Amino acid sequence: MSDEVFPEEPIGDDAILAGLAALGRDDLESNGKAFAFVYDAGKDVNDLARRAFASCMGTNGLDPTVYPSARRLENDIVAACLLHLRAPQGAVGTATAGGTESVLLSVKTARDYARSTRPEVREPAMLLPETAHASFHKAAHYLGVRVVPIDVDPHTMRASVAQMRSKLDENTVLLVGSAPGYAHGVIDPIAEIGELAEEKSVLFHVDACIGGWVLPFQREIGVDVPPFDFDVPGVTSMSVDLHKYGFSPKGLSVILQRRRELRDAQYYACADWSGYSIVNPTMLGSKSVAPMGAAWAVIRRLGRSGYRELVRRIWQSTEKLVAGIDSIDGLRVVGRPQMGLVALATDTGDIFELADRLTAKGWHVQPTYAFGRSPAHIHFSLDPSNASSVDALVADLILAARDLPETIEPPRAVLQMLEAVGQGGVDGFDTGGMMGELGVKDGRLPENQALIHRLLNGVSPKARERLLVLFLGELFS
Ligand SMILES: *Cc1c(COP(=O)(O)O)cnc(C)c1O
Repeated sequence: MSDEVFPEEPIGDDAILAGLAALGRDDLESNGKAFAFVYDAGKDVNDLARRAFASCMGTNGLDPTVYPSARRLENDIVAACLLHLRAPQGAVGTATAGGTESVLLSVKTARDYARSTRPEVREPAMLLPETAHASFHKAAHYLGVRVVPIDVDPHTMRASVAQMRSKLDENTVLLVGSAPGYAHGVIDPIAEIGELAEEKSVLFHVDACIGGWVLPFQREIGVDVPPFDFDVPGVTSMSVDLHKYGFSPKGLSVILQRRRELRDAQYYACADWSGYSIVNPTMLGSKSVAPMGAAWAVIRRLGRSGYRELVRRIWQSTEKLVAGIDSIDGLRVVGRPQMGLVALATDTGDIFELADRLTAKGWHVQPTYAFGRSPAHIHFSLDPSNASSVDALVADLILAARDLPETIEPPRAVLQMLEAVGQGGVDGFDTGGMMGELGVKDGRLPENQALIHRLLNGVSPKARERLLVLFLGELFS
């Protein structure tokens, strides 16, 4: 075994690359039937991205004075984002490793800006709609900022501005809205939240991680897109991921700040040690410039017209999928998606059985648990690789929805036992044994996953978090 993971003697290049290729054989494929994880603009774009990525691989973004190309790439990419999201003169930005890092930095900025400008803030807090991405909770947890949850309307899934107004107090350092939220593809009332932010002089981050690159193109092709960007005066920062609908390889998002003094609060500097003094714009220290090189290449390769055509295809397919779901008895769309992100729920049928039936027909979809106003649902992300499969998907949905059993509740005693494990109240629980019983093998979920999802959906979010930690720990041991 040890020779296998760390051989004594070198192995030939071809054998190594063949080994890598073999490892990837079971990975999710972008074959037109994957409706989660995949943001794929096609082979030509990917081939170019791969070459660009490799060509910048050795460049360290830690020090732009030593690697001027790192500075140039970042300035170009940030400038494209600023232009795209109608940022005013004086706005600035930073490349990050992904949406999560952009979100972490938006919260850090708000916390540290308040520290230096608002001494009355004792316990920094952010107003967070329940549809906001989990990374904001992660930021709250890492940075010691309190989350004040905000309800969404159960029909539109848009954040309640009235509740934001009533919960805003002297500790509020940040308002958050999504454009759109990942789960339902619904854009929060950004203009109204922006007015509140201006009136109360509070920072306001618009999480456009998933939509920021797409929505301006949707507007250009005539889709009705509400105000969501820097055109709304109260918006002080935005995040936009290039590694999603920018179609570049993983490892690149951008955070934009309306004013440079805000970005100063985002930066971190340290001269308090015996090595080199640092000034880091993001969480990471040494970092590869390769994702920037690849995104820089893809932006040029597609051009605005290329993106516009891809966005048109995705939007047309989204409308088709929504209309298709609307026409199937017993199924419904949660909210009204404003880009290619669709949440499908059932009226009474078992949603996880429906997901299993789709899996059996070769579709890869994302079963999602109930939380707040959002019911358990199946999430679909549309992209250029799956857009032309939507007719076939709807046809299979019609078949899969036939004779769907009503919601199946797992045995109460089992749920209670899992809840107890999840609350940390069971010593020596055999996680591996349980996973085996549920059909998890070599870290892969079984084809019939409905039972697993019903169990996780049936416990509290707190217990679910702990169970997921146990589960992941088991995969890496
Ligand atoms: C994907 C996403 C994030 C987090 O981005 P990662 O790149 O996965 O870290 C944040 N917000 C929204 C709305 C997202 O869709």
